[in-house]
Amino acid sequence: HTFRDIMSKIEEDLDITKEEITYLLKTESKNEIEAIFQTADQMRKEIVGDVVEIRGAIEFSNHCKKNCNYCGIRRGCTVPKRYRMEEEEIMEVIHQLHSWGIKTVILQSGEDDYYTTEILVKLIRRIKRETKMMITLSIGERSFTDYETLREAGANNFLLKIETTNKDIFKFIHPDDDFDERLKCSKGLRQLGYVNGSGNMIGLPGQRPEDIAEDILFFKDMAIHMIGIGPFIPAKGTPFELYPQGSVEMTLRAVAITRLVCKNVFLPATTALASIDPDGQTKALQAGANTIMLISTPAKYRSNYQIYSNKNMIDLQSAFRAVKESGRKLPKYLKISPEEVQ
Ligand code: SAM
Ligand code: SF4
Repeated sequence: HTFRDIMSKIEEDLDITKEEITYLLKTESKNEIEAIFQTADQMRKEIVGDVVEIRGAIEFSNHCKKNCNYCGIRRGCTVPKRYRMEEEEIMEVIHQLHSWGIKTVILQSGEDDYYTTEILVKLIRRIKRETKMMITLSIGERSFTDYETLREAGANNFLLKIETTNKDIFKFIHPDDDFDERLKCSKGLRQLGYVNGSGNMIGLPGQRPEDIAEDILFFKDMAIHMIGIGPFIPAKGTPFELYPQGSVEMTLRAVAITRLVCKNVFLPATTALASIDPDGQTKALQAGANTIMLISTPAKYRSNYQIYSNKNMIDLQSAFRAVKESGRKLPKYLKISPEEVQ
């Protein structure tokens, strides 16, 4: 009866334990797996509805002072070219996204101190002034004061993934980072009133289902609103290039269980998932996910932002396809239709 007990606890919104989540991650029963996905999809429908939120991501710099062992733009990697986008160039993309009706832009980069708080504040203010778009930052660890200044300038959301809550694995994959420091950053962001984003990778070396269960409880306890769950994908030229990639199946299961446990959250159908399975985003949208991020980095820079090998370039066309195939709805605010991007 274990399975039914767990599922009724979820439906009654009772606290669920690490052992119970682990059970859901591990079960090999076809019926149980199907029930997990169906319940997650149903819960997504009831709580966040049928509309797939579409956001634009601009990867504005691939310079990084860190050397995370899994990442294709780590400082030790030879990428074809290191680039930085200037304000004008970023604004051009922002205006294009804005003209499509898109309401949120994600500004992502390596940990690049070239972009001082001053530069970022100027950019954030300009985006707000010219478009009023919501701004998500994904620029890694900074001081509390920096986070505060950026928040005051108008940044709304911040995506800083914990990557794994297993401290040994965290240390093994992050030569420059400290788990407690990452946690402190995440708590600071919450305190400052950011819509707090986190997430993890599935299939990290040494990671067990128990660790993923712990990650999901962490998202819940920290009241994380946006949770990016993607498979680990080996990147050429990194210390982890020969490690096996995370599985699509386990990633989808983690997405579904995160919906079941965290309930009213933003769950992207990640680019990483789309990169290892052409139908990955459709599958994620049917397993509890409700957001797609368009890669809106100018074409000339994209090949230099290969954080993992064979990264899929999610564009409007592929986003429209995933929304259609998953039987979901496009947001009303979009000013561009699938016919226009054929
Ligand atoms: N530098 C910032 C940071 O680390 O938070 C933002 C950019 S970083 C490239 C964004 C995300 O990419 C990380 O949170 C990590 O989960 C993901 N990532 C990097 N390398 C990856 C890989 N090999 N496989 C899957 N995801 C990866
Ligand atoms: Fe830099 Fe982020 Fe890649 Fe780590 S994951 S090397 S911080 S870009």
